[in-house]
Amino acid sequence: MPPAANYDDVALRASWSHRSAAYIAGLGRFGLNNLLITASGCAGPLFTLFISVELEPGRPMSEELCLNKKGGQCGCCLKHCPQKAFSQGGSFDRFKCHERLLEVSGDFNYLNRLCDVCGKCSIGPCALAA
Ligand code: SF4
Ligand code: SF4
Repeated sequence: MPPAANYDDVALRASWSHRSAAYIAGLGRFGLNNLLITASGCAGPLFTLFISVELEPGRPMSEELCLNKKGGQCGCCLKHCPQKAFSQGGSFDRFKCHERLLEVSGDFNYLNRLCDVCGKCSIGPCALAA
């Protein structure tokens, strides 16, 4: 199983985070929705590739890409999260989010666990472009 999908059932933490790796490499910044917003938005998957070539390390991006974190007003993700799993203050409750993912997975049981996501937090203005 891919390391990011093989998470600890109790702590709900995976042994690897593609989005944290992408953040460290300077590809984007975390938005209020706890997703990494890149120049292409936040509504896409991220993957990590390990290669044996020495490269100049990237640097975390300094510019905020989330409209709220930039000092504007958006909150679209907050409005749409059915679990209220995160807050204006930046906290994220992974347990609340996970409850919803289990519900969705149960609703689509017949798809053999191919559908276990919710994603209502990735439909705001930052979805497709920063
Ligand atoms: S929907 Fe708005 S507030 Fe939420 S992460 Fe995107 S830009 Fe930020
Ligand atoms: S995936 Fe769904 S439940 Fe989880 S934070 Fe996003 S909107 Fe909320």
